[in-house]
Amino acid sequence: MQMPEKGRDWADVRQEMISRGGGDAQWRDGRTAVYVFNAGHDVEQVQQEAYTLYMAENGLGPMAFPSLAQMEKEVIGMGLGLLHGPEGATGAMTSGGTDSITMAMKTARDYARSKGKPREGHNVVLPQSAHLAFDKAAHLMDIEIRRVPLKTDGSYEADPAAMGEAVDEATVMMVGSAPNFPHGIIDPIEALGDVAARKGVWLHVDACVGGYFAPFARMNGVPVPAFDFEVPAVHSMSADLHKYGYCAKGASTVLFRSEELYNFMPFDMAGWSGAPMKTPTLAGTRPGGAISAAWGVMNTLGVEGYKRLQGQVCATREKIEEGVKRLGFEIVGNPMLGLMAFYHPDAHAFAVYGEIFRRGWFTSVTKEPPSLHLMLSPKHADVADAYLADLEASLAAVKAGADDPKVEARYS
Ligand SMILES: *Cc1c(COP(=O)(O)O)cnc(C)c1O
Repeated sequence: MQMPEKGRDWADVRQEMISRGGGDAQWRDGRTAVYVFNAGHDVEQVQQEAYTLYMAENGLGPMAFPSLAQMEKEVIGMGLGLLHGPEGATGAMTSGGTDSITMAMKTARDYARSKGKPREGHNVVLPQSAHLAFDKAAHLMDIEIRRVPLKTDGSYEADPAAMGEAVDEATVMMVGSAPNFPHGIIDPIEALGDVAARKGVWLHVDACVGGYFAPFARMNGVPVPAFDFEVPAVHSMSADLHKYGYCAKGASTVLFRSEELYNFMPFDMAGWSGAPMKTPTLAGTRPGGAISAAWGVMNTLGVEGYKRLQGQVCATREKIEEGVKRLGFEIVGNPMLGLMAFYHPDAHAFAVYGEIFRRGWFTSVTKEPPSLHLMLSPKHADVADAYLADLEASLAAVKAGADDPKVEARYS
């Protein structure tokens, strides 16, 4: 497309933009279980209005916009309050989980250097199920990633002993997830903490998808094990607001146990022609809307609102677990939050995925083991029965076609 010589009326452009969305996943109806978190119309309206109130303002200028600086500080305070941040813990908002993880890794690397670890040749030790954002960050910083196989007891948890064996003097970070994305399983953070403390290594907990879910699940009585700053060896955490925080996209938090650790994150520089600038995270310009929308959503929902929504998600997951088990599927590990993966002994998961996709469901898959993957939202309470009915039909269709060598070849 070339830029049009003459602009058109907004009404006309707006209409075209809306109709272009007609071919997208129609997630508001609840038939999407990946990419979006659907807490309903009221929360969406708060996101939109709270975002536009500060859409033009810039979090890069805390002196110009003390309102945003204060809102960010309070968002971080609320996050730390939920995640057992001790006195003196601090953090910053970033654009998303990948950004938070990148900043945590850079901070851990710089901290390790300050403690006399080698200047180069670093590595990070993580479970096979950890998010690929760690690999991306490591690629940027020329750090080696050491992925360690999970336990083989069917729990799909990180294996703390094996991870300990992968650590050496150039290890700048160990990682556990709460939960991991592929299976929705919370790693044994206390056991990882013991290993990290023994080896003198920074432990990061990636709670991107669980940080604003697990605390409320726990309040609702779900037996979530200790996974946050409650575990003394945890140095940093990533927790995304734009996932189960139900905030507008472009919002995550990166949190540190102390100011001393945090201080290895900001970039402070005066040696150029422009004014000296100190930025806490990767971003220069920081969208004010992402900050104000987060503050607005958190303050309208409150603990009560999040407890209600996360309770709804857990109840839906339990209902779907029961339903898929009735159809002969097996659940991967023991998920406790909003994510789950499951597979069928007699039908390839990717074939079932294809069938349910054709029936109008935008869901996802996990590769190890080949499984169907759901990331559930409050809205899914309304459609769980319809999903299970379509899953049953999809399974039957795959079984009926299982003798077809073309189908077999495609998925084996
Ligand atoms: C989503 C996710 C990330 C990455 O977050 P983005 O916001 O997509 O960059 C990292 N870790 C886990 C466990 C996640 O679920």
